[in-house]
Amino acid sequence: MPSAVMIDGELVSPERARVSIFDRGFLYGDSVFETVGTYGGKPYALMPHLERLRRSAERVFIPMPLGLDALAQEVLTALGASGNDESYVRIMLTRGVGPLGLDPDQAVDPLRVIIVTELKKPLPETYEHGIAVITHRTRRTAEATPAEGAKIGNYLVNLIATREAHRAGAEEALLVDAHGGVVEGASSNIFAIVKGALVTPPEDAGALAGITRAGILRVASALGLSHTLRTLSVEELSDADEVFISSSIRELVPVVRIDGKPVRDGKPGPWSVKLLHAFRDQVHREIAAE
Ligand code: PLP
Repeated sequence: MPSAVMIDGELVSPERARVSIFDRGFLYGDSVFETVGTYGGKPYALMPHLERLRRSAERVFIPMPLGLDALAQEVLTALGASGNDESYVRIMLTRGVGPLGLDPDQAVDPLRVIIVTELKKPLPETYEHGIAVITHRTRRTAEATPAEGAKIGNYLVNLIATREAHRAGAEEALLVDAHGGVVEGASSNIFAIVKGALVTPPEDAGALAGITRAGILRVASALGLSHTLRTLSVEELSDADEVFISSSIRELVPVVRIDGKPVRDGKPGPWSVKLLHAFRDQVHREIAAE
């Protein structure tokens, strides 16, 4: 069960937390959200997450119900109420309650929900041995719409891709667009080391502006590893020297098999290991400096 829930600024017991069935987040996936992890109990990169929430909300025309500082304060209050050592925080903003029917102007009072649960990080073996992934050709929900790049609540496409991955004994699905380009994972960003340089797909190809991705690009530059933003074909990814994914909860996880075929020797590569450690060190420095 969640360890703390806050709805529109009020802490409510997780067992009693309820939202209306007429909430458009429930009816239409008409919502945006963020997932934040803690280190030493403190949320990592909370402001960049809230800024992305605001950008997502703008793209789908949901007005922000309060300023980012006030929202950050609510997150900290919910975290404080949770009693967890480390937490997984989900911050949601829906268009709120309205009559049935698509017209977004019929709902004028956005709803915000903060859910705090205990953080379950991947096991150390995941980092030591890496994971298997599949490629999954699909069209993402907001592809080629003004909402592209927003972290919208409708994750059905990603969820179906994740199901496919699990059925194939893999842990993540890489989403492949209509042009055969790998854009991102179902719940992660994707990176490859190709000819000694780091490559990750750009945001204008539909990749989420991942907070972890940005952190990894910063530590890569600090380590003298240059990067290029471009989509990767499935073939190029399979032939890459190293492949890894990133997300707030999983940090950086090496990918060692793609569609059943090993990446190089099927072990996490040296850059993946180095970048993971550099990223963690950087996070701990930032958290300690707060
Ligand atoms: N891409 C998608 C589709 C995601 O759902 C996520 C995270 O959940 C990411 C990328 C990684 O983003 P972040 O590092 O900000 O968690």
